[in-house]
Amino acid sequence: MSIPVNPPSGFRDFLPEACARREFAVRVISEVYRSFGFEPISTSAVEDLAVLTGKGGGENEKLIFKILKRGEKLDAARAENGELSDLGLRFDLTLPLSRFYAKHQSQLPHPFKAFHIGPVWRAERAQKGRYREFYQCDADIIGSESPLCEVEVISAILTAFERMGFADATVHLNDRALVYAALAQAGVPEDKRGQACIALDKLDKMPRESVEAELLGLLGAEPVAALQKTLMAEASGAAADLSAYEAAGPQSYQRLAWIAKELAASGWTHVRVNPSLMRGLDYYTGPVFEFRHAKLSGSLGGGGRYDRLSEKFGGPAVPACGASIGFERLLLLLEESGAGAASTGPEFCVLVFDESLREKSLELARHLRAVGKTADLYPGTGKLKAQFKYADAKRAAHALIIGPDEAAAGMVKAKNLKTGEERLVKAEELVAGK
Ligand code: AMP
Repeated sequence: MSIPVNPPSGFRDFLPEACARREFAVRVISEVYRSFGFEPISTSAVEDLAVLTGKGGGENEKLIFKILKRGEKLDAARAENGELSDLGLRFDLTLPLSRFYAKHQSQLPHPFKAFHIGPVWRAERAQKGRYREFYQCDADIIGSESPLCEVEVISAILTAFERMGFADATVHLNDRALVYAALAQAGVPEDKRGQACIALDKLDKMPRESVEAELLGLLGAEPVAALQKTLMAEASGAAADLSAYEAAGPQSYQRLAWIAKELAASGWTHVRVNPSLMRGLDYYTGPVFEFRHAKLSGSLGGGGRYDRLSEKFGGPAVPACGASIGFERLLLLLEESGAGAASTGPEFCVLVFDESLREKSLELARHLRAVGKTADLYPGTGKLKAQFKYADAKRAAHALIIGPDEAAAGMVKAKNLKTGEERLVKAEELVAGK
């Protein structure tokens, strides 16, 4: 049987053009995060299962790619019918950040503004825009309760979107504490609010009637009627009654309104308070937010406040707020808009006339690179026709050839690959940029 050439389902290869676009997005996001004072961190791809499970990862915990124990430990676990794995691949960058902070906080500034860009893995059913290996680009502030954190994190992400041509991305704001307050006011007991939130979270993915039926079964008619004005309003296309929402949790509401006001003052016009925004993860404790774009059905990213998460790693109960860019969805938008595509190849492609002259070609490429020019060198010898084809495929601006006559005269033949024009130049002049 032949070995498959396709990567496993949900995993992808990237051709040079796709890599260029991904690099462009990573570069823009990193530059913007840095410009806001976030510092880069990096953590291991593999984490102890104890880090990944039972710490508020929510539904994602079911999607962990587990790694088998190895050697004697695996034999022993098999013999005892015990747990066969002890490690797993990270499924987001938030739990690793919390572990990282618990371990390294004494060496970090306080509060700490971190950004982290890297792959995460989830054993999901793969579909367009939903993969098993995908990038996340997180920005987080640990150690501050101030709503300035939300404004900073959201502004940084909106700026990154704007730089890539998506100034029309919207941010939806809500507050987990406010959702709980609205549920309490509607008469939902605390032990049912988790389930209620899970059901409400389905409002933007499933028909409203089926979610309503689920909520009626769970909560009864009266609470559901009360929630229609607030948490459920969006799904019926009506504007939520924000004064009823404010009355449920005035403090949380005012904080949220302040965040929205400051974002607007910073020039962001697509900002709205949306009481139906849940964000699935259990670890959010205050404001939550989600970025959306008209051309995408899912979100373009999201985040929120997750105070106390690092406490679970033996660290102090520090407040934290962060967000993640849905990198792969952003890439779908970039693909469509054409931004970030590699438009040009190297300035020069140095061809190799024959083996006796290959050192000349190598020397020329070396000199060009030394003065900061981009110079590809055909990595071989052979028919010049094939070498020109290579130079074209690499989108080089000029092909350079040193044949025996040119070598004897200290010259180089330069061919403009767009116009076909050829000229003889002195090697030194070419290097000097003439
Ligand atoms: P989450 O950690 O689930 O809140 O996801 C954060 C962001 O990552 C979301 O806004 C999505 O855009 C993106 N995302 C989540 N799951 C996937 C996936 N399977 N493939 C690609 N992107 C994803």
